[in-house]
Amino acid sequence: MAVARLAPRPGFLSRATSAAWDISSRRPAVPCLSIRVTRSPFSTSSPLSCASHKSTTAQPPSNANANSNTAAKTDSASSSTDRYASCMKLNQEWAAQTARDHPDLFPTLATGQKPQILWIGCSDSRCPETTLLGMQPGDVFVHRNIANVLHPGDLSSSAVIEYAVAHLGVNHVILCGHTACGGVAAALGNKQLGILDPWLLPLRQVRERNLALLESLSPQEAALKLVELNVREGLNVIKQKGAVLDAIEKRGLQVHGMIYDVGSGALRELNTEDSEEAIKARLSAFKTEA
Ligand SMILES: [Zn+2]
Repeated sequence: MAVARLAPRPGFLSRATSAAWDISSRRPAVPCLSIRVTRSPFSTSSPLSCASHKSTTAQPPSNANANSNTAAKTDSASSSTDRYASCMKLNQEWAAQTARDHPDLFPTLATGQKPQILWIGCSDSRCPETTLLGMQPGDVFVHRNIANVLHPGDLSSSAVIEYAVAHLGVNHVILCGHTACGGVAAALGNKQLGILDPWLLPLRQVRERNLALLESLSPQEAALKLVELNVREGLNVIKQKGAVLDAIEKRGLQVHGMIYDVGSGALRELNTEDSEEAIKARLSAFKTEA
């Protein structure tokens, strides 16, 4: 049985989506407290989510409100515990259901992997690549980091790309940015972010090179444009790697740039076709021999 495939499997996406809705519907099992918090530089959504509650331990409670704050802490802790317990239970249900629907899947996966796709995307919780592609374990090899930034000398992403292309023999590399990306929002701001500053440096460099364009757009349009420019920048990094150039030349590896809309679930592929002149220059500069 071929484990890896490109086409979404019939019925899988609908099951996955409904499972996600089940998870969402269980989120308010322990009600969120309406505590107003200051939005972080990464904030791209409502500041009143469960995950963004201000810690009640930051300031010792006064005697007058100690009981209510203690209740809030207990509430928050139990909410976290419940989410973990739900995940473990959902995993058991998912494993059993998947084994019933696809009896060969887990025994086949236990013997190895042969994914056709390498996905490079953002770590954002709203962008789970295998789910949004409607695929299954074994279908997608993955590298994700904050804002899907590709530093040319980064060992982690470089090793993933090398292994996927040269050893697993994937046929497609997808670099995907997404709407409402917190990393992109941070790079469009000017707050100091500690270790995140060097990580987001390539995004700020893209911002610098495209400053006039970005400043001519509305904040929302500028954020989406920087998402796109970041994907195009990352594609250049991918196509400068010897293993990728070899695979393109010898077996037709395809490299795609995409943007995922977290508000609709839709993927959009960018036109990233290179000119003959650009391809020739890239090969001259980066093609190496063993
Ligand atoms: Zn992101």
